[in-house]
Amino acid sequence: MAKPLLEVSGLKKHFDIKGGVFGRKVGTVQAVNDISFTVMEGEILGIVGESGCGKSTTGKAILRLIEPTEGKVTFEDHDLTNLSDEEMRKLRRDMQMIFQDPYASLNPRHTVEKIISEPLLIHGVKSSEQRSQRVKELLEVVGLNPYHATRYPHQFSGGQRQRIGIARALANNPKLIICDEPVSALDVSVQSQILNLMSELRDEFNLTYIFIAHDLSVVKHISDRVGVMYLGNMVELTEKDKLYEDPKHPYTQALLSAVPSLDPDIRKERIILQGDVPDPANPPTGCVFHTRCPKAMEVCKQEKPMFSEVEDRHFVACHLYN
Ligand code: SF4
Repeated sequence: MAKPLLEVSGLKKHFDIKGGVFGRKVGTVQAVNDISFTVMEGEILGIVGESGCGKSTTGKAILRLIEPTEGKVTFEDHDLTNLSDEEMRKLRRDMQMIFQDPYASLNPRHTVEKIISEPLLIHGVKSSEQRSQRVKELLEVVGLNPYHATRYPHQFSGGQRQRIGIARALANNPKLIICDEPVSALDVSVQSQILNLMSELRDEFNLTYIFIAHDLSVVKHISDRVGVMYLGNMVELTEKDKLYEDPKHPYTQALLSAVPSLDPDIRKERIILQGDVPDPANPPTGCVFHTRCPKAMEVCKQEKPMFSEVEDRHFVACHLYN
């Protein structure tokens, strides 16, 4: 049975807003506000939500690419939040990140060989011959021609560049890869090729992914479980099929109602949410979704709902179920 690889507990990331002549703190953006979840070994956990909901900040805070404000992140037996910079640097070998825009994350002046061999060099592979051999292997693994190692990023298509990004992430045999919108800059036809490649790599190398995206169909394609975020909070988390067939949280219901069904027998009524997403510097009291929720009750304005298990392995933060 799979065991937990990563445990996130009460994670918060708040950013100060500075203003005035002296640049004093004038407010706080609550980008991630007290979220908890576990990722099992070999699992693909999708995290979905609209732009600005805190999903990318969550990914970066887990890897401490930005420092969390509060909370605990445990990877295997290591409490990441208490590691020194040097200890964290060593452990990053096991935890990689793939970014949305492969072009922006690949140095345009470096050859593919240099780009992919950089993490090998950082983590102590001193022999240039070994690095070169590994780069060739990695290019083959991601479906590129090893002879292209001498080329530059601009000589590749968007999909090929993302394959290079994946090869770089795989260089040191990581256990966990956090993928931040890895296919959203790509054409739909290329998206499924990259998603299929990532699924195959998971099986081949027993990888674990946190897959962050705003596109519900992309997340559905690849994930085992899915967490839904709204305004810095995780509002629902369960197995993919349960979430897509029986969403419990009114926000998830609204999000899914906007996805067209391929089955003509399934007619869904589109739930149109009123208003805009509130300012994360001034979030609503109680349930952060109450200003837009079609099912809001009086209690929702006062009390923040607990994120609790309302059915087996189905977690929801909503007073309708508490
Ligand atoms: Fe809607 Fe209330 Fe549930 Fe929040 S707690 S999602 S406002 S019903």
